[in-house]
Parts: sequence; C-alpha cells; structure tokens
Amino acid sequence: MIKCKWPCLKFLLLIAPLLYGCSSTHVSTLPPIYKPERPKPEIVIPGSIMSELNKFKIRPWKYIVIHHSASDSGNAASIGKYHKNEKGWVNGLGYHFLIGNGNGSRDGQIEVGNRWDDQIDGAHAGNGEYNKHGVGICLIGNFENDYPTSSQISSLTYLINYLQKRCNIPRNQVIMHRTFRKTVCPGRHFPYNKVMARLK
Ligand SMILES: [Zn+2]
Repeated sequence: MIKCKWPCLKFLLLIAPLLYGCSSTHVSTLPPIYKPERPKPEIVIPGSIMSELNKFKIRPWKYIVIHHSASDSGNAASIGKYHKNEKGWVNGLGYHFLIGNGNGSRDGQIEVGNRWDDQIDGAHAGNGEYNKHGVGICLIGNFENDYPTSSQISSLTYLINYLQKRCNIPRNQVIMHRTFRKTVCPGRHFPYNKVMARLK
C-alpha cells in the first residue's frame, strides 16, 4: 500500500490535469461576462449653443413654425447665402434655427441664425403674422422623399421644449408651415405627431 501511494499521487497531481485539462475546462465552463451596452445618449446640445441661446434678451414670440429645406444638404452659411443673394433678403438666412442632417453640417447639429441673435422677424412663412411672431426652425432634408434622422428629431424636440419654456409658447402654437399656408412643407414624412408627443 505504502509503495504504490507515491506513483498514484504523482499521477493525480501531475498527469491527470494534463490529460483532462482541468484548468482550461474550468475556465471555459464559466458563463461569459455580461457587458451591458451603454444606451445611446440623447443628442447633447453643446455648451456654446446653450450660451448663445441664453445670452440674448428676447422679444415676445407667439408661434414655432417647423420647415424642411426641401434639399438634401445645407447649412446656415449656404442657405443664408442663397437667401441673401438669390432671394435678395438683406438680413440673410430666413429661419431662426437650422438643424443639420449630416450633409453640410453635423447630423442633429443646431445652428443659431442671425435673426435669432438679433431678435428680428423671420422670412420663412410667406405670411406677415407668422414671419413677425413665429420662430422659424428648418430641418435640412426633403421630407417628401426622405425621413428626418433620429438625431434631427431629438434636437428639434429639445429646441422646441427650450423655446416653449423661454418664450411661453403653448403647444397648439407649435405648427408646421403647411398648417397655415398652401405648401407641402415640412414634407409628408415629417413625424409631427411623434414630435408633439415628445414635448413636455
Ligand atoms: Zn416651410
């Protein structure tokens, strides 16, 4: 009995792990480590935009009017240039805000127009009442053909919530361009009800 004890122990300690691969099988039977995916953050409004929004003394506004650019790309500089040079509007960009789609500016990027900075009438409505009292927000894109991106909708919702609070505008005065004028703007794919449902 004593004689065979050492070889048996030797087998158990040295050989068996090699044969049966105990250390590796032990590791491989562990459940995989669960790494929860971080939720994609809502669009973040840069501090520079927020300070730009906040620094001006605002005049009374009654409406928020939503538009599309009816173009695949664009930004405040390109549309402002078009409004100034082609339309002949001395104050340039007719909208108070633009929201980019990734073609010309970042997807979901809010650009603050000079008409918001200067708190002057818009040139977006084709209607005196809504140009004078309406904050014009334009999303880049043609929503007769395409859908706005989710980042655009997040930014739009954020901006409308901000403006409603800042300017005391009731939700029934958050309207689409076609609500009061014969136009398809902001396009048949613009998800108005979805945006309204996300307003606070
Ligand atoms: Zn429009």
